[in-house]
Amino acid sequence: PPLYRIEGLTKTYGEGDAAVQALRGVNLDVQQSAMVVLLGPSGSGKSTFLNIVGGLDQATSGHVHFEDIELTSLGDHGLTEYRRHHVGFVFQFYNLVASLTARENVALITEIAEEPMEPAEALALVGLESRLDHFPTQLSGGEQQRVAIARAIAKRPKVLLCDEPTGALDSQTGVRVLEALDQVNRELGTTTLLITHNAVIAEMADHVLRFADGQLASSSPNPTRRRPG
Ligand code: ADP
Ligand code: ADP
Repeated sequence: PPLYRIEGLTKTYGEGDAAVQALRGVNLDVQQSAMVVLLGPSGSGKSTFLNIVGGLDQATSGHVHFEDIELTSLGDHGLTEYRRHHVGFVFQFYNLVASLTARENVALITEIAEEPMEPAEALALVGLESRLDHFPTQLSGGEQQRVAIARAIAKRPKVLLCDEPTGALDSQTGVRVLEALDQVNRELGTTTLLITHNAVIAEMADHVLRFADGQLASSSPNPTRRRPG
């Protein structure tokens, strides 16, 4: 079965004349261990979609089935538990703790996990085995983002949600970050949903979703998935 089955998902912000329909009936299955890329213009609903799938925001109507959980029936406490156990997040900004080393930043998260990875193992998976004891200021932007990825995967989440993880990076550095996400997906089988503005990145996806005006304009499998770079 798919990891997610999403049916008739809508999201409206605000009310009356001020209402914004951010999602207008999205239907989608996300397969286990897939690498899914979300494309579409600014304001087309990508972040709203990712936030609802990640349990950061509530849908207005529709269903998000995840395994035997129905996310749209959960309250705040249930969504917090869902995020804690199952979801890793990577955002444009890394939010590392400046006074802690790479290893310590990752270890912060593994303390709350049930079967966490060793921080060094998570950092090796993103190519940072030689940067374990560096502080954030001693790392490049791309390396800091890879620490953030290691932190997100160290609790072995089933899902990794990435909202423009290369948005603050130049394209060459961005490719290294994408290589790290590709490696995590292939090695751990972590189902990955990735928002980007870069159409070239779509070549590394198993599946490409194009959003337009709150709807899925297309949903295309990519039979010739390539490695980034
Ligand atoms: P993107 O970079 O994906 O286009 P935005 O820059 O539009 O996203 O939005 C950044 C953040 O601001 C998001 O968390 C989004 O939820 C929030 N946001 C976007 N539009 C509005 C709005 N009209 N009112 C309040 N918050 C908004
Ligand atoms: P994208 O990620 O594709 O840029 P978003 O999901 O951020 O799109 O936004 C979709 C629409 O919802 C936009 O019109 C945006 O302004 C609006 N929006 C997003 N977040 C909020 C919010 N918190 N409050 C009000 N409007 C929002």
